[in-house]
Amino acid sequence: MRAAEFFFKLKEEKMNILRFAVIIAFFAVLPFSHIPAFAASDQEKVKVFACEPEWAALAQEIGGDKVEAFAATSATQNPHYIRARPSLISKARKADLLICSGASLEIGWLPILIRKASSDLQPGSIGYLMASDLVPMLEIPVVVDRSMGDIHPEGNPHVHLNPYNLIIVGEVLADRFSGIDPENASSYRNRFRDFSSRMQKAISRWESEAAELKGKPVVVHHKSFSYLIDWLGMKGVGALEPKPGIPPTTSHLKNLLRQLRNSPADVIIRTPYDPDKASKWFSEKTGTRAIVLPYTVGGDEQSGDLFALFDRTITLLKETYHVRQ
Ligand SMILES: [Zn+2]
Repeated sequence: MRAAEFFFKLKEEKMNILRFAVIIAFFAVLPFSHIPAFAASDQEKVKVFACEPEWAALAQEIGGDKVEAFAATSATQNPHYIRARPSLISKARKADLLICSGASLEIGWLPILIRKASSDLQPGSIGYLMASDLVPMLEIPVVVDRSMGDIHPEGNPHVHLNPYNLIIVGEVLADRFSGIDPENASSYRNRFRDFSSRMQKAISRWESEAAELKGKPVVVHHKSFSYLIDWLGMKGVGALEPKPGIPPTTSHLKNLLRQLRNSPADVIIRTPYDPDKASKWFSEKTGTRAIVLPYTVGGDEQSGDLFALFDRTITLLKETYHVRQ
């Protein structure tokens, strides 16, 4: 009995010492709790609002664990047509940098988000980055007739499918990150150099793998692939849409059939989000194979990052042509 009392007392003393130690530790930490090292690591990251998955992927390549990139659209959504939902407005408000394709691709929803965002995200500011302002543009119209509903009035905005453009945009992105987060400037510049070198090596490989595709005639649903076609030296011979953004009509498809009667296309390509009806109709009429290309990061299971996106795209195109792997 006495032994039990003794142990009970000893246990209580130990508990008191422990409580005291906890209190001391708490007050010891308290004065330093405002130091960023104690803050949640997410708060220190540069927050990127990317309009499309390819730019979120590029931001992550250049920023690594110093940035947190959010993509406003997924690979299964048509970036021309999404809604400026309150959740997107809230994300844009919290962002340090906005990166989009630009050239009116996001004209239906991005201006609302920018209006509600901070002064650092306004046009001309460090946090406002439009890829199409930086790269050589294709299909710039001589005369824009907006009444016809052309949704590419400033040229073709789907610029990411030429991988050289990713290097151009990546370099500017590294500069912007360095300006926003000067402490980590060397990390951004090193990561860009590493990305650029890996990308240039991959480009050489892709160009040699895809050499057989040069000059091959292609029909597209929407002009989403013009930069890919141009880069690989393929030949775009028509689009199922009469104008970018105008859904295919029977009269336009019949005209295209007539045009291609003597020199048919080898393949019809569309994105994961384009409707398949016109592709299937055209394929049945002509016997030309219709395929879906991933178009962006996450467009299919195999296209998990920017490198995999081009690997997969070239593999799918080559399979279509029965070129030996
Ligand atoms: Zn478009």
